[in-house]
Amino acid sequence: MISVEQALEKILSHTDVLEEEPRPILDAMGQVLAEDIYSTIDIPPLDNSAMDGYAVRSEDTCGASRESPRFLRVIDTVMAGSISEYEVKPGTAVRIMTGAPLPKGADAVVRFEDTDETEREEGSAETGILLQVEPGADVRHAGEDIAKGSKVLGEGTVIRPPEVGALASLGRSKVMVIRRPTVAILVTGAELVDVNQPLPVGKIYNSNTYSIAALVRHYGGIPKILGVALDSEDALVSGLHQGLDADMLVTTGGVSMGDYDVVKDVLAKQGEVVFWKVRMKPGKPVAFGRIKGVDKGGVARNVLHLGLPGNPVSAMITFELFARPAILKMMGKKNLAKPVIEAVIEAPIVNEDGRRIFARAIVEKRGGQYVARLTGPQGSGILTSMTLANGLVIVPEDKTRVEKGDIVQVMILDWSEESCRIDI
Ligand code: AMP
Ligand code: MG
Repeated sequence: MISVEQALEKILSHTDVLEEEPRPILDAMGQVLAEDIYSTIDIPPLDNSAMDGYAVRSEDTCGASRESPRFLRVIDTVMAGSISEYEVKPGTAVRIMTGAPLPKGADAVVRFEDTDETEREEGSAETGILLQVEPGADVRHAGEDIAKGSKVLGEGTVIRPPEVGALASLGRSKVMVIRRPTVAILVTGAELVDVNQPLPVGKIYNSNTYSIAALVRHYGGIPKILGVALDSEDALVSGLHQGLDADMLVTTGGVSMGDYDVVKDVLAKQGEVVFWKVRMKPGKPVAFGRIKGVDKGGVARNVLHLGLPGNPVSAMITFELFARPAILKMMGKKNLAKPVIEAVIEAPIVNEDGRRIFARAIVEKRGGQYVARLTGPQGSGILTSMTLANGLVIVPEDKTRVEKGDIVQVMILDWSEESCRIDI
């Protein structure tokens, strides 16, 4: 049996970064830039006002104060999006709104608060300036955010909302990014019924297709749902063939020692088994290999295959540990690891058989430190315990027991505000 690290290393060594593709900026969220982005414009494009006020020649405000205002003749009003046709000559000012380009001749803005704007009579041709301002006061200079020709985003950057905004500010509607992997999902088991069917006695609803598809989507991939294959080699082979155009094939179930567990036999015949069984709990019977296929053009290609255990919790945890990093690598991401923090454990955990335990836990910050509380029964069929958990407490292989109060490592599954489930 190999370790979690060895398994991951083998998976990643078979995983390649995918090709680049042009994407509309909003659809590229979470994808990795495949080009350097340079600006072809200055941002802002022109010197403009940072405040609502008056565009002035700063020298005209010399000595101005509340006690001794300087009066300037108002020659125009300019709004954001318009250009004043007037030049600010000595003794004059232009009423200006935030974002409006600074008129010719002006070198500063006096905010309304520092003028007699509120007392000014309607139609009055003059404004009283109550403050002396320096050249450049409340002026945003052309190119002060981004200078024309400068590099704004580097190849390899992950596109998040600020990057989408920055690209839009440059007038980019599309960018080159590494494409998203398609992950085909095939679940096995004669006991499985789809969610939109009535449930006959002796059957269970198929949850793995949905939890795994949700994870694929969550981490940026495109799920391709292949449905349920019965536990026979023929059914499995024909199911797998539906997924040979995908970048990765994920199956669940059929990888343990049961009579009908046929995945690894099929894998051995249809391609190559790289490993089977990892020293971990839950999730020991996880298989990885490659399946021989042909692409749409008839060219031979190998499709990565990850055979996850059927138990719903084991399937999700092994996906987090092995499929997620592979998806992220295919997408060109560099940081493939989930964050791991240290927390105080609230109850003991016994490690009976020298495997690495990943125990579902709720991690909270209390009194300046993280505290990890197990979500209750840890059976690998208890999927509701995943809905409670935001982390996995890691018990190393060589540790037979952790005691209440010990410091443990916790892999964080989800830091988001939504991850703390409402108590039921
Ligand atoms: P297996 O690995 O195929 O032996 O499955 C282990 C356990 O997980 C069995 O109790 C199965 O019924 C259950 N199981 C397998 N596949 C699914 C699935 N797609 N959805 C829900 N439970 C499943
Ligand atoms: Mg099964």
